[in-house]
This record gives sequence, structure tokens and C-alpha cells, in this order.
Amino acid sequence: MNHNLFDTFAAKMQARGTANFITTPEGGKYSYADALAQTERMAGALRDLGVTPGDRVAVQVDKSPEAILLYLATLRIGGVYLPLNTGYTADEIGYFLGDAEPALFVCQPAALEAAKAIAAETDCPQVETLGASADGSLMDVVANADAYTGIEQRDEDDLAAILYTSGTTGRSKGAMLTHKNLGSNCKSLAEAWRFTENDRLIHALPIFHTHGLFVACNVILISGASLYFMSRFDVDTIIAAMPEGTALMGVPTFYTRLLQDDRLTPELTRNMRLFTSGSAPLTAETHQQFAKRTGHAILERYGMTETNMNTSNPYDGDRIAGTVGMPLPGVEIRITDPETGTHEPLPQGEIGMLEVRGPNVFKGYWRMPEKTRAELLEDGFFVTGDLALIDDRGYVQIVGRDKDLVISGGFNVYPKEVEQVIDEMPEVMESAVIGVPHPDFGEGVTAVVVLLPGEKLAEADVIKALAGHLAKYKQPKRVFFVEALPRNTMGKVQKKQLRDEYKDIYQGA
Ligand code: ATP
Ligand code: MG
Repeated sequence: MNHNLFDTFAAKMQARGTANFITTPEGGKYSYADALAQTERMAGALRDLGVTPGDRVAVQVDKSPEAILLYLATLRIGGVYLPLNTGYTADEIGYFLGDAEPALFVCQPAALEAAKAIAAETDCPQVETLGASADGSLMDVVANADAYTGIEQRDEDDLAAILYTSGTTGRSKGAMLTHKNLGSNCKSLAEAWRFTENDRLIHALPIFHTHGLFVACNVILISGASLYFMSRFDVDTIIAAMPEGTALMGVPTFYTRLLQDDRLTPELTRNMRLFTSGSAPLTAETHQQFAKRTGHAILERYGMTETNMNTSNPYDGDRIAGTVGMPLPGVEIRITDPETGTHEPLPQGEIGMLEVRGPNVFKGYWRMPEKTRAELLEDGFFVTGDLALIDDRGYVQIVGRDKDLVISGGFNVYPKEVEQVIDEMPEVMESAVIGVPHPDFGEGVTAVVVLLPGEKLAEADVIKALAGHLAKYKQPKRVFFVEALPRNTMGKVQKKQLRDEYKDIYQGA
């Protein structure tokens, strides 16, 4: 049996024939049959360029249907797809190419000169652009290539992709994902979220991240549904697409931005059957406001680059705000005490390290054997770095990352708990609580707050308001007001950046 994930996709693509696979607001369009034929030509081109099974194909390109076809063509020939964030600079690309040693780097036309220089330094033998450039492009190679109609034989533990983590807590790590990891996860998500050939997913996420690439595209491919492929998130385009769409997969900022628009009504979303959220915590307030405005309860799920998706709120049944639902079928979760390091499950309801095991869990970090050994345990559980609890209904609540935990005067302070209290103040839009070095307490609890437009508050007002709600050791010692919190493209608050910015505030205190 061929475990190549593309084998499963190809069967579906074949069966769907002239049905629509992908359209763009700009008029781009591929039926399933067209897309399948194009993967044959692209696969031929990749082989002509010398890519062989197991080779990495590094890709840093703008979002387009062709980029997804390139992903599929890479799988088809047994290559390892390696997408890179479009925001990475030449220096960063240099690091990733040196680390991954791809056989081919596909870049944007504007980056070709820089890419060639980096490729020469890092021994990457081939550079191509996806879009047209003065030097020609991959599409010229495709036009002249013989179609490759085979599907390379792969074992289930062979690599399908290397995906670098978002770099929220440190340098990005290459997560090695196998055909089994990706195949099992998209199958269970498609079932859990009831995807069928009748679905049309409004796709506004980037495609260099697990959410936009594997959760969104793989789920559509395995269910034979269609994609409405937006080059980036844009409220007007999403609103225009909703009457024809059935599902939207988003990050929390999509929903806060949509809520600012008066056109968001039950009528507008009548055809939509599913709104999901992940990659960062969705506040209970956004969940409730969205339900009030549209009648739809956002379905929050939890996952990461290394594990694909771990948990999901139910499709039928209560979607509980502030939780990420229950483990997907085949996924096991345990909460353990990070202090003792015994990996024994804690009593139900206690906060600890979330560990996960299942067919979704990656094979390890690319060229980081020690880190892999430390985090991917012998019994198969992966230590996620997220602190969580399982409540009495069996729903998982993510409390925060262990690296964001503040230890002040020897006491654990969970930033989320403090943020929730600050966010309830009527003047506040959002907040981030961090720990920074403090001469007496080790770390000083510090709040960075964004006020709602037109509101005014002083530092002392916030500290006073929290006094009645939080124990003294949890109360921020300093409060700073900013226009906006630093976030990355997935809407994740960059706490590392905030900690750097405020690292000296208690010096000499
Ligand atoms: P790095 O590992 O490089 O520091 P990262 O952890 O942000 O970056 P990703 O793999 O993109 O990289 O993100 C996974 C993380 O995102 C999870 O470990 C978790 O902290 C967070 N996350 C994902 N979904 C949710 C959710 N629904 N609620 C809260 N946190 C979430
Ligand atoms: Mg991580």
C-alpha cells in the first residue's frame, strides 16, 4: 500500500473531476481535474530539476493556487515540502536554507537575486521563481516538462513536510511531519467538522503555517470540497464571500475585526455552517459577542506545528468559550507536573504541562536530536510547553505557555488569569501580562494595556481596580499603556518582544 498522502488526495481529485477545487477573488480558478493535471506537469518539472524522493523543496512565495499545486506536486514525487514565512528576511532565509539543505528553493521574483546569493552560500543547487521573472520561472520549466503521472511510493513514517514553528518562544524549529501525521489528522478533522463535497471554505490564512496549509487545505482535499482562496485577510472580501461560503477557519483577530463591522449579521452568515478559531486563545468575550451577532458559536480548537491538531470543541454539543474542547479521536492528552519531571498525570482539574500522544505527533525536530529527546518522550508523549487543565466536563483549558508563566516572590502567576481581570475593565480593549526581572521578587508582574478608542486610564487606576479581584502577589507592579500589542501574522502576541522591551524597568527599584 502506498502511504503517500497524495495518493489519497489524487483519488479524491480524480473522482471530483470538473467540480471546483479553488477560486480566487481575482478570478483564478482550477477544477479538481485541472489541478490534478497541473500537479502532473509540476511533478515532471521538479524531477527535471533534479528533486528526488526525500529531498526538501523550500518555498517562500506569496499565497496563490499555484503554491498549493506546488505543495501537491512535491508530495507526488516523494519530496519534503518546506514552506517559509513570507516575512522572513534574507538573513533568516540564509539560516533556514543552511539548516534544511533543500534541493530546490522556490522564491518570489523580487527576491531572486538575493536568493541566488544565499543559495550559493548554502549549497542549494537550484533556485526558481513561481511567478514570471526576467530569468524565466518554474512555470517555464513546467511548460516544457513531461508530465509525471506516477505517485512515488512512501512509507507512513517518511517525511511529507518540514514546517518551522512560529518562533514565539525562541528560534523556530523544523518540525518533521510524516505522511501518517498529516493524513491521520486531516481525516479526523474532516470527520469531526463534518466536511463534505458541498463545502466551500473561505480561506484567508497564510499557507506557510500548519493552520492555513494542513488544517485548511488538507481537510478540503480529503473531503473534495472547495477553497475560496484570498491572498490575505480582508474584512470586505470575507463579507462579500460569506453568502456563498459554508465555513471560515480563522485566528482570533479575524473575529475581533469582523465584529467591528456592522454588516456582520445573522442574514449575512445564513449559508455559513462553521466558524473555527485557533493558533492563539480566543477570548470568551469574542466568542459570546460573535454568537450574539450571528447566532454562530465559534468552534475553538488547539494544535501546534509539531502535533497538528490535538483537541476540538464538538461539532454537535456544547462549544464552551474559554476551552479548546476535547482530544480528537486517537489523540491522548495528559496533564503532568513539570516540576517533578515524572510525567505522572496530575489529579483532574489541576494545572500542569500538557503532553500529547497519537498519530498526529511529529517525528522530531530536524537536526535537533537533543531537543527531540527532551521533548518527545520514550512512551510517545510530546511535551508541548503549554500549561493546561482538564475541567470536570473533560474539556481542555489552555492556561498559557510555561515560558510565559511568571514566578513572583516564589508564587506562580498565570498571566491569563490577570489578563482576564484587566480585560473586564470597561475602558480596556486588551492586555498582556508578563514577568520581567525584579530585584526583590525575581520577576515582577507587569501589565501592558491597550485602551478602547477615546478611553483614558492612569496606571494607578488599573492597580486599584485589580486590588479587590486578585491576590496581592498576582497584581501588576507596573502598568504600561500602548497603542497595540505586538502580534505576528498568526495573531499571536509576541511576549518575548514585550519582555525584552520592559526588561530594565525594575532595575534600581
Ligand atoms: P515556537 O514553538 O517557535 O515558540 P509557536 O509555539 O507559537 O512558536 P506554533 O506551532 O505556530 O508555534 O503554535 C503553537 C502554539 O500556539 C501552541 O503551543 C499554543 O501555545 C498556541 N495555540 C494554538 N491554538 C491555541 C488555542 N486555541 N488557544 C491557546 N493557544 C493556542
Ligand atoms: Mg511552540
